[in-house]
Amino acid sequence: MSDIKNKKVWITGASSGIGEALAYAFANQGAELILSSRKRSDLERVQSKCQGAKAVHLEPLDVARHADVLETAKRVQEKIGPIDILINNAGISQRSLVEETPLDIDKRIMDVNYFGAIALTKAVLPAMLQQQSGQIIVMSSLVGKFGTPLRSTYSASKHALHGFFEALRAECYDRGLKVLIVCPGFIRTSVSINAITADGSKQNKMDDAQEHGMAPEVLAEKIIQALLAGKEEVNIGGKEVLGILLKRFFPRWFSRYIRKAKVT
Ligand code: NAD
Repeated sequence: MSDIKNKKVWITGASSGIGEALAYAFANQGAELILSSRKRSDLERVQSKCQGAKAVHLEPLDVARHADVLETAKRVQEKIGPIDILINNAGISQRSLVEETPLDIDKRIMDVNYFGAIALTKAVLPAMLQQQSGQIIVMSSLVGKFGTPLRSTYSASKHALHGFFEALRAECYDRGLKVLIVCPGFIRTSVSINAITADGSKQNKMDDAQEHGMAPEVLAEKIIQALLAGKEEVNIGGKEVLGILLKRFFPRWFSRYIRKAKVT
């Protein structure tokens, strides 16, 4: 993709953190934005700061309510036409051990992080294929490449995104569809505060790793660079990104390391 100006860009989870930073970065490039997350009032705050956007449409949406996802996508496309760039960013993290986590919590995480992303993708895909161009950006994580303690289903949901979107990329390669998978390391957002615990409540605590992580604005700019460069997958963060190489080349060492690594 050579230019973002006037492109219709739909960002989920746009009310805070990475999604909010992406909204400002894409607005700055002159895109037409569709912003989604659960609360309209949060989206209105972001909208008021989207300098440079061609237009900003607010579409409150809980991506875990899959019937609503389909209905909203139908309405949005009837109103403004096919989406050029879909950013599947909405997500919830996890801070709980496997042994203490009931299955309904695992399902809640998958419903948002995995089924939410694929539901919206399936809803915008037909129009993208018809116009023979479309770009999906998928917010995975470094834990989409390796598992760490306290994030079993979060990590599984991100791994699942790789399987699904690599398959989609291969299936639609000749029909103008591009997929960029982003694997961030520690980014300074409220993700750890909003992370779900074993009893379904929020952790409500800023982890050190997040507090000292990369600024979301820096990540957003790097994502735009990766998009314009036509990348298929990028790992972005601090020294934690090395984990991918260590797992690949020294798997036994990495397996021992990750047992004790500080991951909060
Ligand atoms: P955040 O908690 O600030 O933002 C999450 C966003 O998702 C919010 O806008 C929230 O309202 C939205 N959201 C959550 N559940 C939703 C639902 N059911 N329906 C619609 N929207 C929902 O955290 P963030 O760090 O900005 O996270 C954004 C994405 O980046 C997530 O997918 C997360 O897994 C991923 N990520 C974050 C980090 C990090 O260190 N911050 C690292 C790797 C990946």
